[in-house]
Amino acid sequence: MSKRIVVTGAAGFLGSHLVKELISEGNRVIGIDNFLTGKAGNLAQINNKHFIFLNLDVCSGDLQDHPLLNAVDEIYHLASPASPKSYQANPIKTVMVNTLGTENMLKLAKKHDAKVVYTSTSEVYGDPKETPQTETYRGNVNTWGPRACYDESKRLGEVLCYLYNTLYGVKVKVARIFNTYSAGLANDDGRVISNFVTEALTGKDITVHGDGTQTRSFCYVSDTIRGLRQLMETDEATGQIINIGSPDEITILDLAKKIKSLTNSRSKIAFQPLPLDDPLTRRPDITKAGVILNWSPTVSLEKGLKATIQAYQNKL
Ligand code: NAD
Ligand code: UDP
Repeated sequence: MSKRIVVTGAAGFLGSHLVKELISEGNRVIGIDNFLTGKAGNLAQINNKHFIFLNLDVCSGDLQDHPLLNAVDEIYHLASPASPKSYQANPIKTVMVNTLGTENMLKLAKKHDAKVVYTSTSEVYGDPKETPQTETYRGNVNTWGPRACYDESKRLGEVLCYLYNTLYGVKVKVARIFNTYSAGLANDDGRVISNFVTEALTGKDITVHGDGTQTRSFCYVSDTIRGLRQLMETDEATGQIINIGSPDEITILDLAKKIKSLTNSRSKIAFQPLPLDDPLTRRPDITKAGVILNWSPTVSLEKGLKATIQAYQNKL
């Protein structure tokens, strides 16, 4: 059955991918974005009478009363810069979108009795002292540093979700997304895979921060989007926080070597200082996603990287 679905952050990496999938299945989609980090080009190929785009800031106070938001079944709230480069360039806007913007979406859901998926992040675990990270781990986050605007505002966004669920019965589900990639990341996005692939393909130095022993666990975009959609579809997930990510952990130095080898690049691997508060470990425990959503990722890092490299090669 066709639904009316709001996607905030529609012009971003994950949002644009999600919008295209939802439209292709016959849903009526309203995308909202203010192009803080998103690109109009991400939505350029969409020419569908079931898609409406609103160039709006989700922090706008009167958003719930917008005439085009008069019937809503589901809200995917993705608006927020996600790349450290972008949120550190826009720290106050990042705090606002994850708090004020999130409350606006929760109010909209309350008004229409709509379901909400809020995209939180593995960053709520900060520099974790437990690994892998389960949803019950409370995190190790610094309030006084360059990543705080993102980490702490996502945490407060989760608090708002908890309150709207417990006080008002809003059907909210929280996804804690771990590092996701594909060629949908713009070359200048600043996240590690887009940087390394772009550097390797253009013969520039592959710039590893620190000694490269810090780890991340990378999930291919199609798997993450499937996780978000299963979260929306699963009633048992209402009022729950669920990790969405790949448990396949790799050091950043090994990632650089892998990308250098897969691209047959002559680039050198160069080392730069590790940014302040850069987490040393990141690996999700996805048991809960398996039990409640019957979800786990299916695309290996090797396969996802090959697809990403191929698409970047075509772009360049
Ligand atoms: P992105 O930066 O590519 O997209 C975010 C979009 O939100 C952009 O189009 C931007 O213009 C828009 N936006 C920002 N502030 C806005 C505002 N006030 N009003 C309207 N639109 C606004 O990021 P992404 O990778 O697509 O991430 C999407 C969501 O998923 C974010 O909430 C992010 O925190 C979360 N997340 C992503 C990852 C990942 O690896 N991609 C990991 C963890 C969490
Ligand atoms: N990183 C790197 N070189 C880059 C970009 C990032 O070594 O050009 C490192 C970064 O310091 C971090 C990891 O790669 O340790 C992942 O960084 P990203 O910005 O992609 O995501 P996040 O730190 O938010 O997980």
